[in-house]
Amino acid sequence: MSVEEVEVGGASMVPVVPVAALVGLLAAAPLRGLIARFAVPEGEPWCDGCPACGRTVRLLPPTGRCPGCRERLGAGPWAVEAVAVAVAVAVAYAADGLVVVTLALAWAATLGVALGFVDARVRRLPYRLTVPLLGGVTALLLAAAPSAGPAVALRCLLAALAVGAVLELAVWLGALGPGDSPLGLALGGLLGWYGWSVALGGLFAAMVLAGLWGTLRALAALARRRPVRGLDVPVGPFLLLGALVAVLAR
Ligand SMILES: [Zn+2]
Repeated sequence: MSVEEVEVGGASMVPVVPVAALVGLLAAAPLRGLIARFAVPEGEPWCDGCPACGRTVRLLPPTGRCPGCRERLGAGPWAVEAVAVAVAVAVAYAADGLVVVTLALAWAATLGVALGFVDARVRRLPYRLTVPLLGGVTALLLAAAPSAGPAVALRCLLAALAVGAVLELAVWLGALGPGDSPLGLALGGLLGWYGWSVALGGLFAAMVLAGLWGTLRALAALARRRPVRGLDVPVGPFLLLGALVAVLAR
């Protein structure tokens, strides 16, 4: 990359970053609503209202407290806001080429933030979030396909099936939950748009990051003389983070 390209790229990013950060901050309130609703253990009904006062909560402030009774719902204070802003800025940096592909990336990132918090909290990726994520990404990639040509469309399909198959195998072996497969299909297809190296790189980055996190947790447990129960790591956040890292590093 020449100096001119760096300068042009740098100058063009100046107004984009604050706008992306603001969008991320505004998205955090409804994302908190989704996290509070879907972060419930397997087999329990969705949390459609505040458990303390019954108020329907679709938007939540950065404190994460119910506007009716101040009960803490879902994620901790400013956690969703910080992640949503960071992810929105990362998507803005990663965006180039077709608008519909950027929209697919933004859609996956938006629902991905909710999924990451839900999985970290209750170790599940609800179909109510992963299926809309997959549907939106599929529709937007199909809209982009005529501009990209059959080779790129075929690569998206094969990458989706490859990543989906790896996760389905892990589900079958009992290492992952069933909601992980739609997420794998969506991320595989989306990363496949950018190339095989990005799709496989995303999966590899996810495994490395999850392995590192699991090892750090195990070492921390050992240091505190607590029992270590395998590598108990939520996979969803690392799949999403690995995908974002691969798209940024391409
Ligand atoms: Zn309440």
